[in-house]
Amino acid sequence: WQRLKGGLSRTSSSIGTGITDLFVRRKLDAAALEDLEDILIQADLGVDTTDRIIKAVSAGRYDKEISADEVKQVLAREVETTLTPVAQPLIIDASHKPFVILMIGVNGAGKTTTIGKLAQKFRAEGRSVMLAAGDTFRAAAIEQLKVWGERTGATVVARPQGSDAAGLAFDALKEAKERGVDVLMIDTAGRLQNKAGLMAELEKIVRVVKKFDAGAPHAALLVLDATTGQNAVNQVEIFARTAGVTGLVMTKLDGTARGGILVSIAAKSGLPVHFIGVGESVDDLEPFSARDFARAIAG
Ligand code: GDP
Repeated sequence: WQRLKGGLSRTSSSIGTGITDLFVRRKLDAAALEDLEDILIQADLGVDTTDRIIKAVSAGRYDKEISADEVKQVLAREVETTLTPVAQPLIIDASHKPFVILMIGVNGAGKTTTIGKLAQKFRAEGRSVMLAAGDTFRAAAIEQLKVWGERTGATVVARPQGSDAAGLAFDALKEAKERGVDVLMIDTAGRLQNKAGLMAELEKIVRVVKKFDAGAPHAALLVLDATTGQNAVNQVEIFARTAGVTGLVMTKLDGTARGGILVSIAAKSGLPVHFIGVGESVDDLEPFSARDFARAIAG
């Protein structure tokens, strides 16, 4: 909780301090509601969620004096209500050996770091982990994955830069099956020549993986960078349509005062949110909790 609270401090101080300043012995009149709306929109909570919060705050309290704490409580409650349906843990079904997770996201979103953090978590749970270095376009991505493998005790399957990613995924899955590995995470490229190329590549990986195991991938996690705001919203639309995304991980919530973007995306997409990243170190990955997140950003 402390780490989550610390990680979200930029967003919470922007929302929380804003509300505190706003409601020092102040009536909840039209002007106050407008200022509150500005604070929430500034934090990227999105128009629909903001509207709902404004309505909930003003219900029965219009033109009366209201304390900042009261406003924060209503805010936290509304955010929690929005997030509760999407806050779903990633369940590793042990009947799949391996449980195959496809990791998707644009370059720089924090995909490789998240793979490392997840590898650490799964290892700590006593699971064996294999990583497939499927971003074969970038030598640095392959190297980075190898480092994470060494650090977490996960086996890494890699090929030279420029190799066929789908072929690599197939071989990794075959090897993981032979070795009885518990979890296989497949990294993917975040940028090809163009969007169509990227989607075609992802589809090819999925097709090839299915040839080996019709039920795989068992999860396709889209990694989103919270600091990119509206871009993250667009990425959800693009990837969810073509890549069969089953859940979201939002990174860098520690690096933005606009962490409300997560609420926006959750409300709009309805996709499960499994984890949030609140820092660069291996432990800075939190299972997503609607209540904790809501309390943390309300300040
Ligand atoms: P990829 O290109 O999607 O694989 O992105 P990387 O995993 O290489 O991450 C890009 C940068 O974001 C690196 O400097 C990471 O340390 C950083 N990063 C990843 N997740 C987080 C996070 O939750 N918080 C912060 N502050 N930085 C992060």
